[in-house]
Amino acid sequence: MKKIIVIGGGNAALCAAITAAQHGAKVIILESAPKELRGGNSQHTRNMRTYHPKPTKTLVENYPFEEYYEDLLKVTKGETNEELATLAIKSSVDLYYWMESLGINFQPSLKGTLSLSRTNAFFLGGGKTLVNREYQIAEDLGVEVLYEHEVLNIKLSNNEVSYLEVKLPNSNIEIFKADVYIAASGGFESNREWLKEAWGEHAKNFLIRGTKFNQGKVLKSLLEQGVQKVGKEEQGHAVAVDGRAPLYDGGIVTRLDCVPFGIVLNEEGKRFYNEGEDFWPKRYAIWGRLVASQPNQVGHVIIDSKSFDLFMPSVFEPTKADTLEELAQKLGLPIEQVIKTIDEFNGAVVDGEFDLTKLDNCKTEGLDINKTHWARRIDTPPYYGYTLRPGVTFTYLGVKIDKNARVYMEDGKPMTNLFATGEMVAGNILSQGYLAGIGMTIGGVFGRIAGEGAANV
Ligand SMILES: Cc1cc2nc3c(=O)[nH]c(=O)nc-3n(C[C@H](O)[C@H](O)[C@H](O)COP(=O)(O)OP(=O)(O)OC[C@H]3O[C@@H](n4cnc5c(N)ncnc54)[C@H](O)[C@@H]3O)c2cc1C
Repeated sequence: MKKIIVIGGGNAALCAAITAAQHGAKVIILESAPKELRGGNSQHTRNMRTYHPKPTKTLVENYPFEEYYEDLLKVTKGETNEELATLAIKSSVDLYYWMESLGINFQPSLKGTLSLSRTNAFFLGGGKTLVNREYQIAEDLGVEVLYEHEVLNIKLSNNEVSYLEVKLPNSNIEIFKADVYIAASGGFESNREWLKEAWGEHAKNFLIRGTKFNQGKVLKSLLEQGVQKVGKEEQGHAVAVDGRAPLYDGGIVTRLDCVPFGIVLNEEGKRFYNEGEDFWPKRYAIWGRLVASQPNQVGHVIIDSKSFDLFMPSVFEPTKADTLEELAQKLGLPIEQVIKTIDEFNGAVVDGEFDLTKLDNCKTEGLDINKTHWARRIDTPPYYGYTLRPGVTFTYLGVKIDKNARVYMEDGKPMTNLFATGEMVAGNILSQGYLAGIGMTIGGVFGRIAGEGAANV
């Protein structure tokens, strides 16, 4: 019986492990996290983007291949591996039906995410329920899961994996060997030292939206030994999150979606970007970087009571005040400058017909930085403020794979016994930008391909 070691314990690893076990292999999962924290960033997800030529139980209408591919080209500005992107998109519908056949349930998208009801399949119970179910399925198929087993090094000899150095729960280091290996241990987004090297000193103030276990150790080990890299170290996905979010695992509930309804000030009390540039789903991912470039990597959204019920609230209560002076003081902002900025903003507002469903005609005129849509005067108490900080979702640097999920060396040779999937390979398809829901698609599709390939080596 073929022995396969899967490194990592998120959706990508689990899809690989389940498939390999279905093909008759003996599979061991090595997961850094303890059981209660298992599931990587996958546990925080809500949906996966799915091509479908006709409606499914939960996805409405259809989402043609051509449209999905166009959507991808738009966000990556055309920089993608066409063969792998085509494969990921075309296989996404099979992934959906395969998951359904395993007893993984989906739900229609909820109010507020209407624009995704045609394109993205939502996991019933979210990502945590998904990974819990995947662990159950894997274990029922005989997959052995070893928690608190962190792979420190993956030792290569030419284009072959010889063995793994693994840190055990008691901190001893042990050698693990198998016939074939599948790397699915995410990016390096939780490694703050590496983030600082790649993104600059200010990365020390970033919060990590997901697991603390994606330290990039396997990725680093592979790249240092001549595995071909894809994606750029400085590329990643970051959004603006509530400044009170925890350092790790804040997840989806700390994302703040009120930016288009108010104004955003830096610590000097000044605006720095057009808050109403475009629809929020197309803009939310730039605000992590925008806030990151402000003093102390902090921003403050200010809204008034007209806008309070228009967005999904943060898990934390906002700062509330009856006057703008009081709000500025509570947020620790320079009061005079805040009042000046808001007076100028209010004076520049051109009245229009406020409409959230379109790029409306409520705008400002004559400011250095105009707000081009959904601009309304901030004049109706009580006033609310949220402090924003950059929240890192994931990094794009990864390893080069082919359509069989096989990893390649810099000299162009394929590895004989190493496959990879998930965030570790996302850079093959996502050179830049992000298409909501494609992360889980990439992990699931190449996880299944890697699992089958590994079982048949
Ligand atoms: C808050 C949040 C919301 C998101 N929402 C969505 C969404 O709705 N849809 C979507 O498509 N994407 C979403 N993403 C992105 C998505 O999480 C990733 O694209 C996806 O989870 C990648 O799957 P993965 O299995 O490769 O990585 P992960 O799920 O992160 O799994 C990596 C695993 O590797 C383990 N590991 C790491 N290093 C080692 C090591 N050295 N040894 C052993 N194990 C190790 C970790 O413990 C972890 O279990 C979201 C991300 C975040 C943070």
